[in-house]
Amino acid sequence: MCRMSRAAACLVLAAVFFLTACAASQAEYYVGFSLSSLYVGGEAVSARERAAASSAIADLLHEIESQIGADREDSDVARINAADAGERIAVGEHTYAILTLCKELFEETGGAFSPALYNLSELWGFTPDFEGQYSVPRAEPPADQIAAAVALSDFDDIILHEDGTVSKRQAGVRIDLGGVAKGYMSDAAAQLLAERFGDSVDAILSVMSNSVLMGHKRGSNASLGYTATIENPRAVVTAGSGASQGLFVIGLSDAAVSTSADTYRSYVYDGRIYSHIIDPATGKPSANGVISIMVTVPRTASNAGARADAYSTAGFCMPLTDALAFYASLAEERGIGAVVITADWSYYVVGDCTALNRTEYAALVSPDTVIEDIFERAEIADARDEVVVDAREEEYIRFVAERSGE
Ligand code: AMP
Ligand code: MG
Repeated sequence: MCRMSRAAACLVLAAVFFLTACAASQAEYYVGFSLSSLYVGGEAVSARERAAASSAIADLLHEIESQIGADREDSDVARINAADAGERIAVGEHTYAILTLCKELFEETGGAFSPALYNLSELWGFTPDFEGQYSVPRAEPPADQIAAAVALSDFDDIILHEDGTVSKRQAGVRIDLGGVAKGYMSDAAAQLLAERFGDSVDAILSVMSNSVLMGHKRGSNASLGYTATIENPRAVVTAGSGASQGLFVIGLSDAAVSTSADTYRSYVYDGRIYSHIIDPATGKPSANGVISIMVTVPRTASNAGARADAYSTAGFCMPLTDALAFYASLAEERGIGAVVITADWSYYVVGDCTALNRTEYAALVSPDTVIEDIFERAEIADARDEVVVDAREEEYIRFVAERSGE
């Protein structure tokens, strides 16, 4: 027992130096911003310079948020959402840039990533108005209300004009950039650092569960490269301290990393999990048996952070085998990596990605550690769209239901 907790403490300590891909409350995007390491030309920059850079980044993220926050009065997104059909809305450079990129991502994901789902997110109780209520058990909305919201959730109804304005085909369509905004912000923050300090920056920048790992890992365990910890989405029912860490991705450099999971902004009703990621095809919370996805995108790709963010969300809205095939094609085209954890507590690794289980990682960084795995690696060829919910997952669902008083 004693040995176990010392080992777990080692892992926790080690993780302090690495990236923790955590998903936290999302009330204000910039709240979760951190700059946890900053080297220029191989030298750590002074605390003062780092604080000044952090403060410049915070200002930039505030500016972006004031343009794109759907819940901000007078933001570009709020004005687009309130506009009549055909009305031209002049928007800021960030809003226009994100929407332009979203058009590409919408196509690339076959519509699985769609920023036009605000009506559905609201119907299911996941918009910021419901802050504090996300985990309250609730019955599904009536089918006619879902159908009405689906009819007003087509991103093709959003038109970008060359003069920098945006209009809509139908008045009631509303957008929500929550699935890509944090990744876009992490890119913008990385660009600010590059402009300020030049090309030789090594840094870890995080906006909530989206990170940009600039350059190469410095300091302790540098030989492993950057390590991204994938949070254990079932930590509340797995025994032992340190179980908050599910898997580890090592060997990363100059890459963006994003994780999406069904853990926060979700609720249990009638024995199943309803999460904040909405499948545009059904108008309902995603139900493809996936519980967590981490995607890494090399920074040689444009908008690497925004891409990682959108790709990790999109994989929840495709049948599992399609999601794995989608990531495999992106691995070939763009060099991405993906780790997909499913409700049978398996995980699949796609592309250029060294994902380690807890025991494998401990063997590398702390060989005396005794620790257990939580998820079991599965082969992509064995994946099936029907994911069998096993006893441990049922226990988790019961736990969440009881906690929320269902
Ligand atoms: P993430 O946490 O990056 O996976 O993004 C989830 C957020 O994106 C949700 O809270 C919604 O604001 C929004 N969203 C939900 N479903 C989708 C979807 N299918 N495509 C794009 N954004 C979505
Ligand atoms: Mg996302």
